Amino acid sequence: MINYDQPEIDFALNAVSQAASLVRHIQSEMVMPSLTKDDLSPVTIADYASQALVARLLAEAFPNDPLVAEEDASGLRPSGDGDDRQAEFLERVTHYISALAPEATPQVVCAWIDRGAAAPARRFWALDPIDGTKGFLRGDQYAVALALVVDGQVQLGALGCPNLSDAFRPDPHGPGSLLIAARGQGTWVTWLEGNGDFEPLHVSKRTDPSLARLLRSFESGHTDVDRIVDFSTALGIRAAPVRMDSQAKYAVLASGKADLLLRLLSPARPDYREKIWDQAAGALILEEAGGKITDLEGKPLDFAAGRTLANNRGVLASNGLLHSAALNGLHAVHA
Ligand code: AMP
Ligand code: MG
Repeated sequence: MINYDQPEIDFALNAVSQAASLVRHIQSEMVMPSLTKDDLSPVTIADYASQALVARLLAEAFPNDPLVAEEDASGLRPSGDGDDRQAEFLERVTHYISALAPEATPQVVCAWIDRGAAAPARRFWALDPIDGTKGFLRGDQYAVALALVVDGQVQLGALGCPNLSDAFRPDPHGPGSLLIAARGQGTWVTWLEGNGDFEPLHVSKRTDPSLARLLRSFESGHTDVDRIVDFSTALGIRAAPVRMDSQAKYAVLASGKADLLLRLLSPARPDYREKIWDQAAGALILEEAGGKITDLEGKPLDFAAGRTLANNRGVLASNGLLHSAALNGLHAVHA
């Protein structure tokens, strides 16, 4: 059972559920103009609002803990060239935040967001205010992801997945999912909206690689689609991979509804290194559900290397039972 009275767990659940509900609300009010993340797009408003809210709650709960997060407020501050779009934009972010934090002013909101620029320390929180921004824009899966890292080890991970309810298929009207994992205490899930109980999550028991259900990024540019085909052939996997954005993939893997997850390096970005906020929460959620996560060579993920997983290449995640077969498959196709 998980100890919900532990202050870190209480804070993480509260922060992620509030931020996930806020971004869902912002999305429901906005007309999505295009599939770009230009400076003033709705996704950016939601990104900033989510980060400001979590940073503000962290300052209250653990004032001395650093926050390592994706965004900073430089794009929100007046540029001084007479362009007042930034001010208007910041007003909109402040408007959304002030419903939850009445003391919000534009300056205060910028200061909250900038708390996320901290460097990783012995103990810190990693936040992706909206993981899967492209999924958010498409109306597909996305997640608010928060993790506590101590001495390079993820101790706690929380994911809010507003579009993830019963099925893989994104459901904007469903209750959404809220997941929490604490080291040694398992992975638990409840609905984001409503007063449901927490249920434990467990990975699948599948051992036959040919029956494996494989998850990959929706965006082809975030992976290597041709190598995934080669990998599937090498393992005799029959089903086509399921394309999904964000760390919602780890939630699906932890629930036993899929068996493998690959983050291969895009041929266009062979030197890409994963951002810690893109992996930390999902990694523990998977491990505490009984799964395994390594890089493509089988090395553990090293969360003590800065803002990226500088010492790792790509990610292989599995139900544990299929891990060595998958590593062999990766080796066979030189991925
Ligand atoms: P996913 O939806 O699983 O593809 O993951 C989304 C995350 O992928 C984003 O938050 C980005 O930080 C990250 N990302 C961006 N470019 C790349 C890339 N070339 N390879 C892998 N991940 C990337
Ligand atoms: Mg992300």
